[in-house]
Amino acid sequence: MPNRPSLHAVESGICFVDTVEKLTTSYTTGKTRSLDWRKTQLLALKRLLEENQHDLLKALKKDLGKCETEAMVAELGFLLSDIKHTLKHLDKWVRPRSVSTPMVAWPGKSFQQPEPLGTVLIIGAWNYPLQLLLAPYIAAIAAGNCAVLKPSELAVETSSLIATLIPQYMDTSCVQVIEGGKEESTALLACRWDHIFYTGGEAVGKIVMAAAARHLTPVTLELGGKSPCFVDKNTNLAVTARRLVWGKWMNAGQTCIAPDYVIVEKGYEQTLIEAIKQEINNQYGEAPLASRDYGNIINQRHLKRLESYMDNVNVVFGGEVDEARPAMAPTIVLEPSHESPIMKEEIFGPILPIITVNNMDEGIKFVNDRPKPLALYAFSDKDDVLDHIIQRTSSGSVCTNDTMMFMTNPELPFGGVGNSGMGSYHGRAGFDTFSHLKTVMKRSFALDVFFRYAPFSKLKLSILKRFL
Ligand code: NAD
Repeated sequence: MPNRPSLHAVESGICFVDTVEKLTTSYTTGKTRSLDWRKTQLLALKRLLEENQHDLLKALKKDLGKCETEAMVAELGFLLSDIKHTLKHLDKWVRPRSVSTPMVAWPGKSFQQPEPLGTVLIIGAWNYPLQLLLAPYIAAIAAGNCAVLKPSELAVETSSLIATLIPQYMDTSCVQVIEGGKEESTALLACRWDHIFYTGGEAVGKIVMAAAARHLTPVTLELGGKSPCFVDKNTNLAVTARRLVWGKWMNAGQTCIAPDYVIVEKGYEQTLIEAIKQEINNQYGEAPLASRDYGNIINQRHLKRLESYMDNVNVVFGGEVDEARPAMAPTIVLEPSHESPIMKEEIFGPILPIITVNNMDEGIKFVNDRPKPLALYAFSDKDDVLDHIIQRTSSGSVCTNDTMMFMTNPELPFGGVGNSGMGSYHGRAGFDTFSHLKTVMKRSFALDVFFRYAPFSKLKLSILKRFL
């Protein structure tokens, strides 16, 4: 396929056209279409994760101060169960998906045949540097594609380890890891791909989509945004606070689907804040910055960004910073101005603003006046309150009476809507994202009806009309 680099990529002196061409040559041999190849590659990736668990955990610790439990649950364990689920269902996913055939096309069969897309580019983000790069890769392999993996340069250790391990375990004629930052990404985006799967912020998402448009390449954009969390005053306060703290401060709040801010009815905020403080204490102790279970901020630049959110707002809890680590304690901000940066930008860190409203409908309006979030949470004892929130808001996903748990179900597609992204993956949704569902109608030579062919007549038309 023609694969001319753009002027911009040539200017930077970096060019990956040869890499893409080599992978595409492998793809055209048809080897990735074989179910055996796909399963062998998935098993090789499983071995990579299992045999290098210690080193991978160490890299995640260095990059993000990730404790072993969080790294096992949200990175390695997540990927291993994704591989298991994929291997269990792959035979079924690759099968043609039959649909009925209208009488006018009898005798015939109609179905959708999943086929691989070709050579795909997967660009990962730094906050879950293993999961966000390899989960789409699992789907890409399952669907029979060749891939280039571009880990985030900010998670330095994990990026370098992946670049070392992938060639040791995987079929390198069908996968390459390209490390690097903006220049490398720009050069990669200048190439022609059969699909681009990007995880990261909105600004770069626009760059990715514009680059893809040059080749009419389809994209999946897994972006972020401000995910709200409604807390109704009729709720199980202890469990609400526990699950809110778990979802907000896992990975020090650097999770795309972490609750970004809480919406609560006026008069209930102090009760909720006390319960959250108590729960932070239960989970991370009196000095969270000294807790082995509490994560780091990825780098000094992001720490400074987070510190700036505390200017001119009412910090009612936390706010301590450890510059050296770098880390920021779990922090609660009460009633920040809706125009302040903390309420305008995605926080992506350990600060939780609490916004009060007169009633839940005012909270719903607050959410609906802003870009559609990636996730939305609501806590209440009352099903009608939860259903009202689900029906009156729009978001990539919703989870009630918990945070982030929908990620544990591979049967649920994961992705954004509006500004929080487009497309989805996990389980069969990931397989479908990296497949083309080709429409096939198989006809027979029997029953070649005369009335569909010219020369037409009134009689032919009246017969045809019966079939319309
Ligand atoms: P990041 O800085 O790691 O960037 C993501 C990727 O984009 C990296 O691989 C990086 O090299 C590349 N990149 C950076 N600049 C580029 C450019 N100019 N051109 C092309 N590529 C470029 O991550 P980030 O953007 O800081 O990630 C944080 C954001 O990602 C947050 O908004 C978060 O919500 C979102 N996120 C979304 C998901 C999801 O699954 N939806 C998961 C994690 C993070």
